[in-house]
Amino acid sequence: DEGIGSWPARRARRTPHRTALIHGDTTLTYADLYERTTRLAHALRGTGVRRGDRIAYLGPNHPSYLETMFAAGTLGAVFVPLNTRLAGPEIAHQLGDSGAKALVHGPSHAGLVDGLPGELRDTGVRTTIEVGAEYEALLAGAGNEPIDEPVTHDDTCVIMYTSGTTGRPKGAMLTHGNLIWNAFNVLIELDLVADERALVAAPLFHTAGLNMLTLPVLLKGGTCVLVEAFDPAGTFDLIEQHRITFMFGVPTMFDQMARNERWARAELSSLRILTCGGAPVPRALIARYQERGLTFLQGYGMTEAAPGVLFLDAEHAVSKAGSAGVPHFFSDVRVVRPDMTPAALGETGEVVVRGPHVMPGYWGLPEETAAAFTDGWFRSGDAARIDEDGYVHIVDRIKDMIISGGENIYPAEIEDRILAHPDVAECAVIGVPDERWGEVPRAVVVPREGATVDPDDVLASLAGRLAPYKIPKSVVLAEALPRTASGKLLKARVRQRYGTDS
Ligand code: AMP
Ligand code: MG
Repeated sequence: DEGIGSWPARRARRTPHRTALIHGDTTLTYADLYERTTRLAHALRGTGVRRGDRIAYLGPNHPSYLETMFAAGTLGAVFVPLNTRLAGPEIAHQLGDSGAKALVHGPSHAGLVDGLPGELRDTGVRTTIEVGAEYEALLAGAGNEPIDEPVTHDDTCVIMYTSGTTGRPKGAMLTHGNLIWNAFNVLIELDLVADERALVAAPLFHTAGLNMLTLPVLLKGGTCVLVEAFDPAGTFDLIEQHRITFMFGVPTMFDQMARNERWARAELSSLRILTCGGAPVPRALIARYQERGLTFLQGYGMTEAAPGVLFLDAEHAVSKAGSAGVPHFFSDVRVVRPDMTPAALGETGEVVVRGPHVMPGYWGLPEETAAAFTDGWFRSGDAARIDEDGYVHIVDRIKDMIISGGENIYPAEIEDRILAHPDVAECAVIGVPDERWGEVPRAVVVPREGATVDPDDVLASLAGRLAPYKIPKSVVLAEALPRTASGKLLKARVRQRYGTDS
């Protein structure tokens, strides 16, 4: 077995007594993880799961999450992590689309699972297993002989649904090889050590929490502390209690921590590496962590690339702050024009990616797969430019670009400036129709708790810092902005809600 499913066995052989997972008061060694994973695999096989079958998981971070993933891997079955924030019909769609045979779920989702449509239960999901007593009884009753299914790097390991900021979520198929090469990239770039103690507060159903953080740490033999729901104060407690060395978060998580009343006196000296990514990282946020003397690194990636593509290392974290860095060791990246020829230095083009970590395609969607690749390069849909040192600067989503009087405007640049305003918590810039210019930018701004924001004051703060055509023609105040679980702005919804009236 060459796949991810063999990792618990390999780790149990080398480091059986080291701690693999911590969750609340539960501690699992690598020997425990191997034993439980093997039992679960036998139990799943007993319910009829075979090679290639899909096994879904719906619930917060928990040891059973990784046990299910590894168990699926040893059987040559495909693991399908589901987003816990989705509504019943969305879950039903992903279960039906993936054709999952079994569903492991947390107790918090029992009600949702009970409410799934009958057709789905009849034709698709045959087995549901609730984490807790039911799951433990299943393990206790199963065998623990080693499982020996031939699994290769080209077999699909997981189907991860993209966050779907546009259109319906698509299932990105990631092979065992994709995940292994990504883990190698992380180990090379981050210099992870065997004593790493990682805080997994990002959800495991997202590619970053699973692949940038948890899998590389387990490959190395370190410890992952699993957290069910992120909260800033609780995060400080866990960092202190477990002497956390490594953490990944999306920008909103790190922002909440920096704004928390504990920030100033929290004991953070154990932290060796903080990595942030998954959405644009505001420069003001990077500065806050760097001013505190913390190593705050930025990564850029996408579900389809398993996910690491670009990484800004510690040596350049300050001098190149704002750049997403250079390609991972085993990744090739180009910034191209629409005809795929390379953009000139400093010219904005589309990021395209190639490498052993890039998915073979979307599950059951040959046309979407064909459209996503040109000449073997995956088209990210992100706009970027490369500087004279070869560092890539992500500009924005191409689709979010505003064209005003023939000038291209990337909202992220304006958002970054507005977010530097001390009273602004969140900001989205969208294009609204304009008779003279075709489109003009509008800013939707969420004030910080307890603060008031004067739209004129925001606009005044931009004067002289941005070209006049980039300065929003209107500022709308809002209470919150629609975001995905990974903290990405749902721009289409912002446009729907704030982009029509003029
Ligand atoms: P997903 O497919 O949900 O994993 O999201 C991938 C997308 O997130 C990318 O295509 C980018 O638009 C965005 N993204 C991820 N990391 C960064 C980053 N460091 N800076 C800017 N955008 C990012
Ligand atoms: Mg995407």
